[in-house]
Formats: sequence, structure tokens, C-alpha cells
Amino acid sequence: MIAERLADVRRRVAQAALDAGRDPADVRLLLATKTQSVDLVREALAADARARADDPTLTAVLVGENRVQELVAKGPELAGLATVHLIGPLQSNKVNAALRWASCIESVESLDLADRLSARATEPLDVYVQVNVSGEETKHGVAPDEAVALAGAVAALPGLRVAGLMTIGARSDDTSVVRSGYALLRSLRDELVAAGTQTATELSMGMSGDLELAVAEGATLVRVGSAVFGARPR
Ligand SMILES: *Cc1c(COP(=O)(O)O)cnc(C)c1O
Repeated sequence: MIAERLADVRRRVAQAALDAGRDPADVRLLLATKTQSVDLVREALAADARARADDPTLTAVLVGENRVQELVAKGPELAGLATVHLIGPLQSNKVNAALRWASCIESVESLDLADRLSARATEPLDVYVQVNVSGEETKHGVAPDEAVALAGAVAALPGLRVAGLMTIGARSDDTSVVRSGYALLRSLRDELVAAGTQTATELSMGMSGDLELAVAEGATLVRVGSAVFGARPR
């Protein structure tokens, strides 16, 4: 079941890449595992390992956790099985716990948080700056017109490497609205690289419902939950 859903998502990503004239290998897949059990996550990772054995051109899926509490609970059980990113908000008092189990923080949205990560990181830490491209009040992330300056400042901190930008797409049925948000993230990334942060090549954007739009606009990492795991348990 999970293996079929995962294969479906892989096909969607690959088709979207081909449609955009891109190499499917340039789009990695991250499993957004919030509220899912360790057993189910392990099942997905095992299915991924089998798929990669059949097709060596595939790259391993990543795991993304939203809440530090869940990251800490599942971290020990997933250690060695997957590369884990934090994709949800990080409070400064939880930085140590997050760094213990995540090798990348995709949700940097302030210089204050970046400072704390820089002070605590024991080895070079990959981070993404999260941008609120839709301007929706419920969404985390820095405003688009502040994103390049923030990312440049974060990149200057010791121990941090800005790998790229991350966003959660607009919640809209109008695909042109969603897509223009992803186009905005891409143009901010291009600006950031041109301004000298050459490590910032990645675009983490696109979820189960809209990954095609994100891949069309250059996503290098799509974060998929429900399309692989089904509806989330509460
Ligand atoms: C839940 C979540 C996803 C995946 O959402 P789906 O619609 O279930 O694919 C991606 N990114 C973030 C930050 C999330 O919280």
C-alpha cells in the first residue's frame, strides 16, 4: 500500500520534472511524517530502499518532522535509516534537542534563531530560510522582501551553511496563485545566489496537493505527507 503510494508520488514528481524540461534526479523527495507512527515511517523507508534497489538512479527519500517533540521521540528509532530535517517552527529553547536529531533546519525565519543555531552547532549545519510567499497570517516564515537580506546574514554566521529557501505554498484553489508563490521563491533564491550566497541552490517547496506546480517552478525538494501515508491520524 505505502509502496504503491510512494511509487505514485515518484511518478508524479518525475513526470512534472520531464514536463518542465528538468532531470527528475534533480528533485528529491522528503516524507513529511507528522503524527505518523515510527512503524509506518519505517515501512515507507523500507519501500523506498526496495525501489532504489530496483532503480539505482533514485535517491533516498528524506524524513521531515514538524514538531521538535516528535523529532525527539522518533529520532532514536530512525537514526541511521534516513536523513532527518526539521520542517516546522523551532523555539529557541528547543535548539539543542532539534540539533540532536535533525541534520538540517528548514524553518529558519529570524536572525535570532540563526544566532542560536550558530552558537550550538557542533559541525557545519545546513539550514534553509523559510519564506512566507503567500503572506497568509497563519504561515511562518520571513516576508519575501526581507528574505534575501536575512539569508545573507545567516550565511555569514559561523557553522551555518544556507542550502536554500523553503516555503509552504498558498492555500488556494487558484493554481496561478499557488504557482506564482513558487515562482517568487525561485526568484528570491536566484537573487540570493547572485548576491554571493552560492551554497543556496535548493528550493524546498510543494506538497501532496501541488507538487507539480512547485516542480514546474524549480523545486529541488518536495515535501509529501498525505499522498504517501494517507490521511493523518489525530
Ligand atoms: C504536513 C506538511 C507537508 C506535507 O503536507 P501534505 O499535504 O500532507 O503532503 C509539507 N511541509 C510541511 C511544512 C508540512 O507541515
